[in-house]
Amino acid sequence: MQKNLYDKITYLKGVGPKRAETLNEVNIFTIWDLLNYFPRRYLDRTCIKKVNQLKIGETATVVGIVDNFGLVKNRNMKGSRFRLIISDDTGYLSLVWFRGASYYQNAFTIGEMIAVFGKIDYYHNEIQIAHPEFDRIDDGDDNRLMHTGAIIPLYPATEELRKIWLDSRGFRRLIQPLLPVTAGINDTLPINILQNCGLIPLSKAYEQIHFPSSVETLKSAQERLKFDEFFFLGLMMAYLKRKIKVQPNGIEFGRVGEKTKELVARLTFELTEPQKKVLREIRQDMKSPHAMNRLLQGDVGSGKTIVALLAILIAVENGYQAAFMAPTEILAEQHFTVLREYLDGMNVSVVLLKGGQKKAERECALAAVESHQADIIVGTHALFQEKATFAKLGLIIIDEQHRFGVMQRAEIRQKAVDSGVNPDVLVMTATPIPRTLAMTVYGDLDVSVIDELPSGRKPVKTVARSENARPKINEFIRREIRSGRQGYIVFPLIEQSEKSDLKAATEACEHMSEEVFPEFRIGLLHGRMKSAEKERVMHDFKNRALDLLVSTTVVEVGVNITNATFMIIEHAERFGLTQLHQLRGRVGRGAVQSYCILMVNERAMTDESRRRIEAMCRTSDGFVIAEEDLDIRGPGEFFGTRQSGLPELKLAHIIYARPILEKARKEAFRLIQEDPQLRAPEHAAIRKKFIEEYQTKYGLGQIG
Ligand code: ADP
Ligand code: MG
Repeated sequence: MQKNLYDKITYLKGVGPKRAETLNEVNIFTIWDLLNYFPRRYLDRTCIKKVNQLKIGETATVVGIVDNFGLVKNRNMKGSRFRLIISDDTGYLSLVWFRGASYYQNAFTIGEMIAVFGKIDYYHNEIQIAHPEFDRIDDGDDNRLMHTGAIIPLYPATEELRKIWLDSRGFRRLIQPLLPVTAGINDTLPINILQNCGLIPLSKAYEQIHFPSSVETLKSAQERLKFDEFFFLGLMMAYLKRKIKVQPNGIEFGRVGEKTKELVARLTFELTEPQKKVLREIRQDMKSPHAMNRLLQGDVGSGKTIVALLAILIAVENGYQAAFMAPTEILAEQHFTVLREYLDGMNVSVVLLKGGQKKAERECALAAVESHQADIIVGTHALFQEKATFAKLGLIIIDEQHRFGVMQRAEIRQKAVDSGVNPDVLVMTATPIPRTLAMTVYGDLDVSVIDELPSGRKPVKTVARSENARPKINEFIRREIRSGRQGYIVFPLIEQSEKSDLKAATEACEHMSEEVFPEFRIGLLHGRMKSAEKERVMHDFKNRALDLLVSTTVVEVGVNITNATFMIIEHAERFGLTQLHQLRGRVGRGAVQSYCILMVNERAMTDESRRRIEAMCRTSDGFVIAEEDLDIRGPGEFFGTRQSGLPELKLAHIIYARPILEKARKEAFRLIQEDPQLRAPEHAAIRKKFIEEYQTKYGLGQIG
């Protein structure tokens, strides 16, 4: 019987209500959904290793017969592990699982063929893989494997799916009979794009992604499907960008006034070349009648604040107000203080708006905003949730925006547009983002980069140490403090155990002030303190009334204390790479050599934490760190897709698929330029998919 793409999976042989329910849970409802469930890896003859070829430390795939399995008691430890032996015609390989033994006991039968994948280890005279990925292979698969060039798809499966025998083999059995249906898949892209970009038809791509007839056809299939992912993402960005460009009421900030010039003249340093270049780009945008929507990217300490302030002054001198949004209260306060210092005696009025403010104080600030007595309003992002009504808002600065999503950004602007103004927006981020990623996450923005630190800065020397080095480290701290320096000791704060971590920081602080460093002045900073208390501690630290600041991760991005030259990060293995880099950015802000010591617990290290620590010690280049982080975590995690509001990329890897990304993005932008409403008949399929899958879901508003 001929099947239809949009038939429910329950029409399929072998899919009853129980299986259907479990499949529904992973968002598979129709045949089309099933065809969009892509293999995670492939197996072909050329990538399978024989047991006697295995090398310790490498990652390999082995196919063998299950010989034996059972529980083995762990030495010295409680509990037991599950051990399984497979063999091929050259030897035996042992597989172990330390968790989930009860499940695995029922998962295998002796004599069945499985493919396993993982890192080869040597333990008690045995070659072994711990927690391998595995897939059941049957005779049909085996025949394919023997046949030169044939490739077996390996599908991802959750434990729930495995329980109903929808493991990799189960999916192969389900999907293979559907291949004829793929012939009925209509192409979304017009023929000219396919030709320009050398893409195969969509129907062919769906067939070959599941059961490739060769490595080459598999590659073309992957390319085609990745292209589509990027293309629609690009379309979304092009669409957003155009929407902003065509919005009416953009402001032309025509002149650069005396105060702006005076501020530049007053600076005690020369702006770096990248700062100047970026300022020119911002100036161009501000002058134009269209609203600016620009991202300013620069590593911690690269000097974004002064750039933002100069943009703010331009807005102010053209008779407008500017809003400066910071992600945390500490940073809002810091920006407020810095701005007031810079603007001292210039007759520009700055107000601070933040949570925990006294009612009278806040009302006074809000009134100043509404009456245009205030030129600049600094506050947390919550600022806009508060009912701040601006007399004449012209510029919005959003600092440290990596916690912000595309859609949130669009919302902030929309709010202003709804109230009749269309302000310029400058988004600043200290998370250096690989170019490709920037094109995707920030695809709706124009990008400016400060890619050079002010001269005279020395890279922070970073090392990893374990507990037994503690006495030496304490000596080092004493030396630094005696020579007039200050430093941070940072403790991780993990949500699940917020209390116990807080306790760790508090106790460490007491221990240090009473026993280790009784001669020094030590402050404590953590997230549960009232903001007035936090402010006081930061203030004392800044004024050198404290030598050492013990804190949880509240010493965030942006805190600027140039005399702080060392940072000890406790339990460094628990931090993410970006977070480590951001924390380290608190030191190395002056001309003196700074140090970062990562305290690690060897036994708590995983492969990933090892890579993170290694990367930190190897480089202080934010871009290298970001690429490494992206590589370790994978694009999904890095994006924080849900947070950033972006569609998930199933196949495409942001770093490795760069050429495809660039091609797809170019085509998408060209398309929106030529046919902004996607009205042409040859774009009908694109329009339909875009509306169905992107527009409604991501709230892009009405297309034409
Ligand atoms: P970030 O980009 O992390 O926000 P900041 O704007 O806080 O960096 O700048 C970090 C420090 O560098 C500040 O103390 C600032 O005064 C200083 N600074 C900024 N630009 C320059 C420059 N061109 N030369 C020297 N110091 C600079
Ligand atoms: Mg900053």
